[in-house]
Amino acid sequence: MANQPKISSAYSVTFAPSNPKSPEVRPETKFTPPLSSPVGPTYPSPPVIVPNQIPLPSVRVPSLNTAIQTNFIPSPYGRTPTPSSVTPPNHIALQLARSPSPTSVSPANGIRDGSLYPYLSTPPGPPRFSSPLQPASLPFRTSTATPQQLPLTSGSSLPTSASPSPRYSNSSVDLQDQVSEASEDLLPFIEVTNVLFSASKVLKHKKLVNRTSLGFGALVSSGRDIPLGPQIIQQDPHRCQNCGAYANFYCTILIGSGQWQCVICRNLNGSEGEYIASSKEELRTLPELLSPFVDYVQTGNKRPEFVPVSDSRTSAPVVLVIDECLDEPHLQHLQGSLHAFVDYLPPATRIGIVLFGRTVSVYDFSEELTASADVLPGRISPSRESLKALIYGTGLYLSPVHASRHVAHLIISSLRPYELNFPEASRDRCLGTAVEVALAVIQGPSAELPRGAIKRSLGNSRIIVCAGGPNTHGPGSVPHSFSHPNYAYMENSALKWMENLGCEAHRQNTVVDILCAGTCPVRVPVLQPLAKASGGVLIVHDDFGEAFGVNLQRASTRSAGSHGLLEVRCSDDILITQVIGPGEEANVDNHESFKNDSSLSIQMLSVEEMQCFALSMETRSDIKSDHVYFQFAIQYTNVYLADISRVITVRLPTVDSVSAYLESIQDEVASVIIAKRTLLRAKNSSTANDMRATIDERVRDIALKFGTQTPSSKLYRFPKELNLLPELLFHLKRGPLLGNIIGHEDERSVLRNLFLNASFDLSIRMVAPRCLMHREGGTFEELPAHDLVMQSDSAVVLDHGTDVFIWLGAELASQAGKCAAALAACRTLTEELTEMRFPAPRILAFKEGSSQARYFVSRLIPAHKDPPYEQEARFPQLRTLSAEQRTKLKSSFIHFDEPSFCEWMRGLKISPPEPS
Ligand SMILES: [Zn+2]
Repeated sequence: MANQPKISSAYSVTFAPSNPKSPEVRPETKFTPPLSSPVGPTYPSPPVIVPNQIPLPSVRVPSLNTAIQTNFIPSPYGRTPTPSSVTPPNHIALQLARSPSPTSVSPANGIRDGSLYPYLSTPPGPPRFSSPLQPASLPFRTSTATPQQLPLTSGSSLPTSASPSPRYSNSSVDLQDQVSEASEDLLPFIEVTNVLFSASKVLKHKKLVNRTSLGFGALVSSGRDIPLGPQIIQQDPHRCQNCGAYANFYCTILIGSGQWQCVICRNLNGSEGEYIASSKEELRTLPELLSPFVDYVQTGNKRPEFVPVSDSRTSAPVVLVIDECLDEPHLQHLQGSLHAFVDYLPPATRIGIVLFGRTVSVYDFSEELTASADVLPGRISPSRESLKALIYGTGLYLSPVHASRHVAHLIISSLRPYELNFPEASRDRCLGTAVEVALAVIQGPSAELPRGAIKRSLGNSRIIVCAGGPNTHGPGSVPHSFSHPNYAYMENSALKWMENLGCEAHRQNTVVDILCAGTCPVRVPVLQPLAKASGGVLIVHDDFGEAFGVNLQRASTRSAGSHGLLEVRCSDDILITQVIGPGEEANVDNHESFKNDSSLSIQMLSVEEMQCFALSMETRSDIKSDHVYFQFAIQYTNVYLADISRVITVRLPTVDSVSAYLESIQDEVASVIIAKRTLLRAKNSSTANDMRATIDERVRDIALKFGTQTPSSKLYRFPKELNLLPELLFHLKRGPLLGNIIGHEDERSVLRNLFLNASFDLSIRMVAPRCLMHREGGTFEELPAHDLVMQSDSAVVLDHGTDVFIWLGAELASQAGKCAAALAACRTLTEELTEMRFPAPRILAFKEGSSQARYFVSRLIPAHKDPPYEQEARFPQLRTLSAEQRTKLKSSFIHFDEPSFCEWMRGLKISPPEPS
């Protein structure tokens, strides 16, 4: 790693695979930090941290906190949990001591029944919708999250412990017989939603697995800030002295000597006697050997700066930086959203309010009767002297909400609309200077500390910019007219200046989110680097109303850790070729601690649940072994200032059979990884066009390499194992990310940046919409997103990630009572589907035939053009319609040129996969 060139934060660089014989010289990984961070939603319940009260240093105290948030939303829509989402008992407190007494671990079932489950947080069951008609033949899965099951559920592929009895526990016994086999059969359904692989098996043949049209990879997210598995408190992990990997569930352990073999490099390591045991069962009481994922938690008492849980979370300040150049209607909307925001904030949150226009106004909360502000010039960056005067003056610029709520409301009410006669785009806005001032306010007097003596801040502070137009005044600004002779040059300097400001904010643990609204273009490319480099997001809205207000709230409360670092280690056979996500390659030199640490280290810009890294991987050579291993270590400081190392180890079986490999492919995960790789290169409208063409090539190549030639014709049939994939990619090609649905390039660029960082759940919805039809009795049926869904007597919800549409058929709309009930049910469903989502989507409801309905139609596959047998095969719900209903449906479509999915496939000389 030492020779590795530093990766710039620009978009990706490629490399040739290195010689497999020299593992130290790792090929540089394509690394790509796009704009950041969708979000973790609500406050998680504070982890119950068990302080280190036990006198013996060798005693481990696993957390007793097993309050797993299952997050199951009771729904009137007849959801039934899937078998895999059956939730273990929620509040079982179970203690696993380091040296269990004979009674605490009964060899018979102490582990099997009790100790395991409470630690495995089953992720929330995917919402299920009753599909009364043809559930089995739905081409779409009925889950958004489709969490992948670890292969460890497949007991058959593993040498089950026909194992030596405990008395073989001397270290001379062959390693193979000493496998600690933290037995997969004990873990019936573990789902690690933090790591999703595109396939649950790895193909041994290098050439095929490296076929980039299909690709192999994983999506890794830091996950929610609640324990995923068992916690290990105040204990340093056992790490491989050679490569730095963590001891884990899959390690082979010599129980006589306590040595463990690294799954990554096979080095044999000592455990300082900790793994010496008389039986394998005894070792299973150790959390890291019990579960493939484990959190190491280091809390406060070793750290002077530790702040009690109750204070630390809420005292990180939020500073609103508000555009003062708004016209009356926009301002009214914004004021409504801001008042609601102030009421929404927890009492202990410290809030600041800064306004920007031609100047910067910093509001003073010590004035209780009138809104009062200190004003700084906007044309230049604030001088040290002026900042000093501000910070050491008598004003109170950050104040806890409980003390200043009424002052905040007073300030918001005092805002006045723009009074001059300039058009929106050319009004002076010194957004850059205002963010500089806001940063100084957050830093306060500690800004005077010498460099290096960085004050450990209370988690991440936030600056939320509310903008209605471009930055046209002062540093980082662009001329308001594109025809300015120096525009290109000035834009370029503005980009750099904004990026530097974002980096400075990140250095000060402050995330800058930019929420834009209105019809005036904000020059997204100039503002994007500020949000991105700080770990924040840029979102655009139609207006400052509802969705804006919701996003303001969600932006302020999304859970965010700081100082995040993701380390990935894999078996020698595996090569990580590209990373896409909200971070940058970290320059971590671990060589002092570990001789041959070849991990990939990524510095995370922010640590949030709703973001993830997409890793593309290849194999270096044909794989000989039966398994390959992957270990992901996510280190971060959580909102309670505990240092977490979340270690997730995954073992995937390798296979010779192409068909077995294809069957193990998770179409949705694979399509998200493909989509991210594609979007990365779709930087503007012309490259987006090129990328649309690459989707065609990709689909054709997959059919050629993995499909079969149909006997009767020259067509290749797309592999039946991947029957969802081409339709997902067809949606990608047509949809807002790449297609022509979105008119303005700025908006597409915002979506693209969101998408490149988005978690799997949000990503898959942005790629392909999810379509739910309202049925009698308040249930919903999931249907393919084909235009055949537009049945006039029904209501349909279409969830496309950043937009949700509620479509009401004309016939339904004519029956007032029925229509109102259906609309209410659709709204409730929409709220449930999106209540955790950040950014909150735009929600539109309209009737069939209205002008807004075109947004909806354009996102559906025009399947009405296909012959009836094909329609029925892919949209079986049609069979339930009466002849009359079908005729009516058929006559309701207007002709247009866009091909249906089947026509597109045939156009590529491929026959579509058989629907399953
Ligand atoms: Zn190792």
